[in-house]
Amino acid sequence: MPGNGKKKARVYQRREVPRDQHNVSRSSISEPAKKVLSRLNKSGYEAYLVGGGVRDILLGEQPKDFDIATNATPEEVHDLFRNSRLIGRRFRIVHVVFGREVIEVTTFRGNATEADDSADDDRKTSEHGLLLRDNVYGNLEEDALRRDFTVNALYYCIRNFTVVDFANGIEDLRNRQLRLIGDPETRYREDPVRMLRAIRFAAKMDFEIEPETEAPIRELAPLLTHIPPARLFEEVLKLFSAGYGAATYELLTEYDLLAPLFPETVKAIGAGEPDELIRQALRNTDSRIAQGKSVTPYFLFAAMLWPALQREWRHRQDNGDPVQPALHGAISKVIGRQVQATSIPKRFSGPMKEIWELQMRLPRRQGKRAYVTMSHPRFRAAYDFLLVREDCGEIESGLGHWWTEFQRMDERGQERMLSELSSDAPKKRRRRKPVKRPAP
Ligand code: ATP
Ligand code: MG
Repeated sequence: MPGNGKKKARVYQRREVPRDQHNVSRSSISEPAKKVLSRLNKSGYEAYLVGGGVRDILLGEQPKDFDIATNATPEEVHDLFRNSRLIGRRFRIVHVVFGREVIEVTTFRGNATEADDSADDDRKTSEHGLLLRDNVYGNLEEDALRRDFTVNALYYCIRNFTVVDFANGIEDLRNRQLRLIGDPETRYREDPVRMLRAIRFAAKMDFEIEPETEAPIRELAPLLTHIPPARLFEEVLKLFSAGYGAATYELLTEYDLLAPLFPETVKAIGAGEPDELIRQALRNTDSRIAQGKSVTPYFLFAAMLWPALQREWRHRQDNGDPVQPALHGAISKVIGRQVQATSIPKRFSGPMKEIWELQMRLPRRQGKRAYVTMSHPRFRAAYDFLLVREDCGEIESGLGHWWTEFQRMDERGQERMLSELSSDAPKKRRRRKPVKRPAP
């Protein structure tokens, strides 16, 4: 609070909300999640539904997955479920697999003190306060206080139907507030990804980030550069494929969190490159998700890196590179720099490059070219990308419409479209400049 240096310490107190005072019913929980909860209970362990599963049901939404917390160790959980696997190093957890549904089971985490660090290999922090490993087990209360936001620390007990709340999560949920448990700066230093999670939840649930939770973000945003690029890749996917990508993008920009994820993009935008294409692509992605359609990571990344690519491509052409080599050089450079911040697995970077390369081929349609381009495995994505470029005003519209028509036509219609193209083509074609060869 301005002018008043003292922060009001929050008191954490266990509260139990009985069944008649909340809307979590057994019917809103998936069969697999119920199975895991009851088998753990029957085997004598404590087990609760926690995290997004409880939060989303309380908000009247359908959870995207279910997480369970228990006092059984990962090995004990693994022994109870044949269909399970132990994963993780930083956090050891168990995945219990039921067809396409995966239930994530974590053992209650304890809050080991700093002094434990040197002696204990199970909980480690780096010089930046980053939590490298956190496998000290604890009780339910300790587990609650180690979670990120108060609304994510609500536990539903399937035995007595109560919701257990240690951190005033119910109240924050009612006020639609995202509040970190504990001292925000310490919690962000332990795990900077929590800053991204704050943005993701704020965008998804339209919650406000409570002032103390919000305050340190801009200053601590650069800490994300200490996070392995592969983990950031996973987070970026979650940020942009939850159906609220456009809102998320604005928040990331507002909180200076885009730079550690997409340094080249932010540099290009800073130098005056427009980012309208990113916004337009994210709006399209959001509406696709709302219609239950899928979105591909390579399309998202093709859009997110487009301003950086455009800038580098132009720069190379200004320096005398011909169009094609300039494009290839720009692609390698932009990707090479990008993967140092947020990685892009090869299975996505390949198709992403193809989307970009096809942007050069889409205008060239004469002869057999249109057919060859259309049979390219990435044609559809490249065509969608072209439409986005037109929609955001980057290029004049017309070409997208031509391709829309061409795809609808039968063979004769297509022939006609192509012959109309040739008759429109300028009569006098510029002669190609002879290729310069190095002197022998
Ligand atoms: P959703 O699954 O809808 O994206 P979620 O809240 O369930 O949201 P998960 O990533 O599935 O998010 O994590 C499950 C729970 O684990 C969270 O609700 C939170 O309590 C805890 N958690 C996850 N990541 C962190 C973190 N980085 N720091 C502290 N607690 C975390
Ligand atoms: Mg979850």
